[in-house]
Amino acid sequence: MTTLRQIELRCPVCDNEFKSQSVVSTNAFGGKRTDFHERAAGTQPLAYLIHMCSECGYSGGEADFTAGADVSPVLKQQVFKELAPLRPSLVCGSEKYEAAAKVAQWQGTDPRHVADLLLRAAWCCVDEGDVEAERYFRRHAAWMFEEALNAYDGVPREERAILTYLVGELWRRIGDTTKAAVWFEAVANEVTDLQNQQWVIDAAEQQRLNPREWFG
Ligand SMILES: [Zn+2]
Repeated sequence: MTTLRQIELRCPVCDNEFKSQSVVSTNAFGGKRTDFHERAAGTQPLAYLIHMCSECGYSGGEADFTAGADVSPVLKQQVFKELAPLRPSLVCGSEKYEAAAKVAQWQGTDPRHVADLLLRAAWCCVDEGDVEAERYFRRHAAWMFEEALNAYDGVPREERAILTYLVGELWRRIGDTTKAAVWFEAVANEVTDLQNQQWVIDAAEQQRLNPREWFG
């Protein structure tokens, strides 16, 4: 099962102190989807790994609410203008990740990290039963991963094959099998260590020809 605990956070943007739920422990007994979405038995932890200030909407992981958080005056303005009107106390997991992705972009964080947050927003939509929003976030995650892969040094060499596979799998789940095939076919060329990454080539072949929803 997943164990949660209540934590107190102080917002580095507006100084508001608020309570949030955080994950103490979880499990992967619910299996892993072919887009690396790990499922827990019991409560899904994803929505509790991200926090949103109940006052201004600033969002991020626990570390983003510590003294070391990168909060410039411009960032504060952007948060007040774009996130505060969302009525932050009412949002669900996907909206928290969407806000965190915006904050990360405003901070100039690398596209890879922003893409991860958008992918998590899509995963939250699976639990929220919102198919349209899921597709929306998958599309934006795919574009952002593509940007990371296109940037010089945007992705460590040894991770390029897995992320190339993931972009293919995102397009497949969006319903664009043509785009998905292009990315799946590109996986083999990105492999740096055949012995340890053969499984990525196999997964890409499988998802191109005879796709499955779950690993294992
Ligand atoms: Zn705040």
